[in-house]
Amino acid sequence: MTRIIDGKVISAAVKERVAKGVAELKDKGITVGLAVIIVGEDPASKVYVANKKKACEALGIISEEYALPENTTEQELLDLIFELNNKKSINGILCQLPLPRHLDEKLIINSILPEKDVDAFHPHNVGRIMIGDYDFVPCTPAGIMEMLAFENIDVEGKTCVVIGRSNIVGKPMGMLLLHKNGTVTICHSRTKNLKEVCKNADILVAAVGKAGFVTPDMVKEGAVVIDVGMNRENGKLCGDVDYDAVFDKCSAITPVPGGVGPMTIAMLMQNTLTAAKRQNS
Ligand code: NAP
Repeated sequence: MTRIIDGKVISAAVKERVAKGVAELKDKGITVGLAVIIVGEDPASKVYVANKKKACEALGIISEEYALPENTTEQELLDLIFELNNKKSINGILCQLPLPRHLDEKLIINSILPEKDVDAFHPHNVGRIMIGDYDFVPCTPAGIMEMLAFENIDVEGKTCVVIGRSNIVGKPMGMLLLHKNGTVTICHSRTKNLKEVCKNADILVAAVGKAGFVTPDMVKEGAVVIDVGMNRENGKLCGDVDYDAVFDKCSAITPVPGGVGPMTIAMLMQNTLTAAKRQNS
């Protein structure tokens, strides 16, 4: 029978763990603080930022929101990040992406102190993930690893296929599976024989951004299927996997919504707690 991997249940468990950690620090007189910067009026970004703020409040993390106008200059944003880098009560800094086009995303990310880079996008943290010596992992792949652990799905020796090679999801996902001794293939738009490659996967992670991309003929009998996709079709949120068609072939699968999505914010909270612990150790 196919098991549904429930992101709401697992993220609640992570949040409970984080709240406990935050309370333990509080008992020692240490607060945990996250600064979230948003530039411009992108509606989706505004929703993400509001959700992050709500999660912080629920777990006892102090959240500071910096909503800057669309016409903010690069120097103004850099000045704010410099100030937050030096602010003791702020342990984590997150700059909501995408930024308006006139701002150099790479420059902005690189200006966040690596020890406060709770998104794990700074090259320093990316490099540390590569060598397997890391404090922070980008929240979505971190959440997926948490789901696999929670469900007692052992990665060691498994054939793992990740569709998508973005810096935020695909690449770090591949590295984390590799660190757990999976045999990893990362696929992308130029991959040849994608179906055949996917069909070998014991663990298949789809991070493509195309609704219903993964069809039954790409899934091995008994595979674990992780759907990262967040696509809108006729106003409805759906994943990269044709869920209903693939369901019976899998041993376990994440739904959309209610799968990977809720894990991302939970892992951001986890990273913020980790940052606070490191900065106070
Ligand atoms: P992205 O940067 O657009 O990357 C998409 C990847 O898919 C690229 O590597 C691309 O290959 C590959 N791809 C596109 N078409 C393909 C095809 N026909 N065959 C094979 N590979 C193909 O997207 P992302 O940021 O990684 O996000 C992926 C999805 O996850 C999106 O739906 C996004 O909304 C969702 N997401 C969800 C969460 C969450 O919290 N649940 C978090 C982040 C992202 P190339 O590199 O060759 O172009």
